[in-house]
Amino acid sequence: MSSVPSTSAVPQHVLPSYLQADHLGPWGNYLKQVDRVTPYLGHLSRWVETLKRPKRILIVDVPIEMDNGTIAHFEGYRVQHNLSRGPGKGGVRFHQDVTLSEVMALSAWMSVKNAAVNVPYGGAKGGIRVDPKKLSRAELERMTRRYTSEIGLIIGPTKDIPAPDVNTNGQIMAWMMDTYSMNTGSTATGVVTGKPVDLGGSLGRNEATGRGVFTVGVEAAQHLGLKIEGARVAVQGFGNVGGTAGRLFADAGARVVAVQDHTGTLYQEAGMDVPALQAHVQQTGGVAGFAGAEVLAHEAFWGVPCDILIPAALESQITADNADQIQARLIIEGANGPTTPEADDILHDKGVLILPDVIANAGGVTVSYFEWVQDFSSFFWSEEEINARLVRIMKEAFAGIWQVAQEHQVSLRTATFIVACTRILHAREMRGLYP
Ligand code: NAD
Repeated sequence: MSSVPSTSAVPQHVLPSYLQADHLGPWGNYLKQVDRVTPYLGHLSRWVETLKRPKRILIVDVPIEMDNGTIAHFEGYRVQHNLSRGPGKGGVRFHQDVTLSEVMALSAWMSVKNAAVNVPYGGAKGGIRVDPKKLSRAELERMTRRYTSEIGLIIGPTKDIPAPDVNTNGQIMAWMMDTYSMNTGSTATGVVTGKPVDLGGSLGRNEATGRGVFTVGVEAAQHLGLKIEGARVAVQGFGNVGGTAGRLFADAGARVVAVQDHTGTLYQEAGMDVPALQAHVQQTGGVAGFAGAEVLAHEAFWGVPCDILIPAALESQITADNADQIQARLIIEGANGPTTPEADDILHDKGVLILPDVIANAGGVTVSYFEWVQDFSSFFWSEEEINARLVRIMKEAFAGIWQVAQEHQVSLRTATFIVACTRILHAREMRGLYP
């Protein structure tokens, strides 16, 4: 008798320990979301395991020489969750709390998001575990370039296209594009999106995510019979996404009554002067010290009287501990993964409508797609054209998802996952398994 164990004794669907749900933070939350959608996938549920395993995980050491002559090592990641519908696409985050679980979850949400708005990409994400505010500009550049070289093995204009996320911006993208181009011997503008406009970036990209948040937020508010004019809006995170969304809501007549960022929490019943607050954040690095607003304790933010709440900072902010305090009728998830599944249930029972991240913040990747298309054709569009196309895609995606939610009587999150996972797994099925 052969001593080789029979392959049939090998459990078929046991996830590697580092992919299991229980102690995995954001990745665990994502796995629970996939479980919720599986009953709606029909015959495609046969392929659902493919959504529970990132296709490719790259962990890199990023050593740099600091300005004082010492050598520092940073931990970097690039995860390609699913490439069935096209090249990987997703941002790069520089933050001291970045973990593999977080990057895996963010990459998976990119797969779902890209499919939800039907742009021809798979999902990917990257990050470095670093507090970039503690680096000099020269150190930041060296770290960005070394990280780009290390992940250069798997990125490229037709393979995987990074973009900005928390604490990364157009300058970081310019260094990434230059590094990749130097390593490959020709200028490759299409290797990253969110670049400065003078380097092949797209008009409208900076504001695209906030504009998408606003666009689908207005659509959802209409279904609730909630008027934007005079509506009270609370925004957590006043950076690229939260600042832009807050300004667009204020421009439309809403009152931004509360804001919170890493420097403080402010409240102003009459509504804040949002452009002035944005200028203050630009100058000082945060909302703290903005004149005229009342300062609140950090935890008080969740209980402020408001109609619309926009979490636009980091994940796992709305939890079972604070969901009960929330007074908003509509939550628009500007951030990725801001609501835990437990909080989702509490809010659903309270009758709060949640516009999930995977559709609400898809405006950024939609204009990133426009940028990539413009780079390939070296033909650039006007800002009006870009905004009009963005609004059209966001409204169409929202309408389709709303319809699926009504049809199956499920939350907008589950509806978005139904639409997106069906597209991903249909592509997976048509391509077939290699070999
Ligand atoms: P950003 O760096 O411009 O802003 C982040 C904001 O969050 C800052 O105001 C910061 O002070 C605040 N913040 C950080 N820690 C906080 C804390 N503990 N409590 C309260 N506030 C805190 O980043 P961004 O690009 O605006 O991204 C914000 C979120 O939106 C992230 O979840 C990101 O993944 C998501 N997102 C961004 C884009 C994009 O195009 N930039 C696209 C889709 C999703």
